[in-house]
Amino acid sequence: MNQKSTTTPAADRYARSTALHEKARQLMPGGVNSPVRAYQSIGRDPIIIREGAGCTVIDVDGNAYIDYVGSFGPLIVGHAHEKVIAAILKTAKRGTSFGMPTELESHMAAAVIDAVPSVEVVRFVNSGTEATMSALRVARGFTGRSKIVKCIGGYHGHADGLLVSAGSGATTLGVPSSPGVPESITSQTLLLPYNNTAAAEKLFEEQGDDIAAIIIEPVAGNMGCVPPEPGYLEDLREMCNDAGTVLIFDEVMCGFRVAYGGAQSLYGIKPDMTAMGKIIGGGMPCAAYGGREDIMRQIAPDGPVYQAGTLSGNPVAMAAGLATLELLREPGTYKRLETLSARLADGLRNAAEKAGVDMQLNRVGSMLTPFFTTRPVTDYDTATASDTAAFATFFGVMLDEGVVLPPSQFEAWFVSLAHDEKTIDQTIAAAQKAFRAVAAG
Ligand SMILES: *Cc1c(COP(=O)(O)O)cnc(C)c1O
Repeated sequence: MNQKSTTTPAADRYARSTALHEKARQLMPGGVNSPVRAYQSIGRDPIIIREGAGCTVIDVDGNAYIDYVGSFGPLIVGHAHEKVIAAILKTAKRGTSFGMPTELESHMAAAVIDAVPSVEVVRFVNSGTEATMSALRVARGFTGRSKIVKCIGGYHGHADGLLVSAGSGATTLGVPSSPGVPESITSQTLLLPYNNTAAAEKLFEEQGDDIAAIIIEPVAGNMGCVPPEPGYLEDLREMCNDAGTVLIFDEVMCGFRVAYGGAQSLYGIKPDMTAMGKIIGGGMPCAAYGGREDIMRQIAPDGPVYQAGTLSGNPVAMAAGLATLELLREPGTYKRLETLSARLADGLRNAAEKAGVDMQLNRVGSMLTPFFTTRPVTDYDTATASDTAAFATFFGVMLDEGVVLPPSQFEAWFVSLAHDEKTIDQTIAAAQKAFRAVAAG
């Protein structure tokens, strides 16, 4: 880790990153290809990454950081894991894309179906956005209904109908929905507060017959980590059964993260469809949607609902995903993630308490968010009551101390198998300083 943080002036320390970002801003909106990366909400220039290994990333100035971004979720086995890289290289040498099926796609499909209890048939796509967008199209085709339901603060990618009260990036930037999205489309999207069964019951009573699907993060991760309250997902399952509505779990973040079989296996609930992404690509662009056979057979060419992709099921992405899933199936994997993450959570709580900082820490397995707020965080309203200026201070000290966090109060941190007791304890030591800085205002 970087030991120079106390002696090197900050401006020098980040000089190359700052210069490169300045140049990038001329070329790309915000100098980035996904908004949160621009560090806008925490008011600094982003670090530009040169390389990563294990739980460490190194920026273009040569500073090393313990990384809790993990590419926003995919890198559960760490950066540049030798088995994942070997699989990528081996596959790439034989060609990177064919527009014709490969055997790897069937291997990957079998692995996903085997892992996720409710998935009987699966289709691969290239991003989580495509997965949720396509799942909704199929659900609408299957039910012949047009309305969909999402939760306030839930993020399901940037498809038009889903960019309504959409958490993380949108929350951070204060854009509740986006210009360019026609009202005719968002009028088909109904909103519910997360973890609120009574509100869901009322909505289903009034409009249940018109609702094609409810899409929900079974563990919310895009307003920061917010677990489902006991019984909430069960209640939604029952309402969907009664109304003939397709229950879609968006497990793009929590799938293969909170358990190998995702949140649905952790909580024992069977959705009709599941969107997956992030981890299943092992750091390559890959996502998937799957579910009940009768629903999934609606998809072309088996059925009339059209969805396609030039690079879908890409062999290199399949190989990276397969290698990652194989590593996750090794014995003790999720227990280790749990142990490390609990150690981090306990350390953060103690550090906050010692510094006299109000903090609520939510965690499910290796997803966690410390919220700078006094009240428990159970939904979007309680999440957004957090002190984002305090988070920005915390983030800045952590970065200077050699720990890189997701640059928003409304993101989850990810612990990987490449972290260990030592790096967790270094993180906690840095957090002690960061909480003291928050307390000092
Ligand atoms: C990241 C994410 C998406 C979008 O995935 P992309 O690959 O960024 O398009 C969708 N849903 C959830 C829950 C996510 O966390």
